Amino acid sequence: MHKERKGEVVVGHLHRKPINNQQQQQSSPSSNHRRSASLPNNSTAQHEESKTDVEGSDLSGSEGDDTSWISWFCNLRGNEFFCEIDDDYVQDDFNLCGLSSQVPYYDYALDLILDVESSHGDMFTEEQNELVESAAEMLYGLIHARYILTSKGMAAMLDKYKNYDFGRCPRVYCSGQPCLPVGQSDVPRSSTVKIYCPRCEDLHYPRTKYQGNIDGAYFGATFPHLFLMTYGNLKPQKPSQNYVPKVFGFKVHKP
Ligand SMILES: [Zn+2]
Repeated sequence: MHKERKGEVVVGHLHRKPINNQQQQQSSPSSNHRRSASLPNNSTAQHEESKTDVEGSDLSGSEGDDTSWISWFCNLRGNEFFCEIDDDYVQDDFNLCGLSSQVPYYDYALDLILDVESSHGDMFTEEQNELVESAAEMLYGLIHARYILTSKGMAAMLDKYKNYDFGRCPRVYCSGQPCLPVGQSDVPRSSTVKIYCPRCEDLHYPRTKYQGNIDGAYFGATFPHLFLMTYGNLKPQKPSQNYVPKVFGFKVHKP
């Protein structure tokens, strides 16, 4: 099931690419390597798309000349749940302990995330560049799961929570309670991200399919609960009302 969804990720990814290239054409020598990491022969399709893709405009508009890979990535459609990880955190090897064995093309992926100019980019085939790019996505996700458990990461997620970036609980009696992202597992590729409602304490699917394709391990099973322990004042009261099914005004008898 997850594999099928992964397939959609690729589609979404290609669809998102034009935004990347468009920005690169605008400027940013620091992100030149990104050009090498994307599909060069897609450029025709990308141009066509950039004309029609209205949603691209709101992404490119707010960004300056020196868009880092991290902020580019976090601004892609579907990636709204991710906060921007501090460069310092990514640069500290201690924080990345154990990830090199989980992520293919680890060194290249890390260079991409940190906007380090890589001389290897030109040597890679298109297919390899694609692999490096999806490896960077995975690496970012796995670092992200760790980062949001730190005080700095949690503060970044708090801003997003206050901004309703993770959506609201669809349950009527939760009265639009803002939710938090959660994984059902810390193991990559075991399930997609869900949103957790602190009021009814239940899980829901994210609102958009783009968000619904993101790996739950990029947020982890611990995050919302540690978050609510940290910011205890944000923990809402349990819902006072439950829905009661009625037939002609009478409660449905439960045998
Ligand atoms: Zn709820």
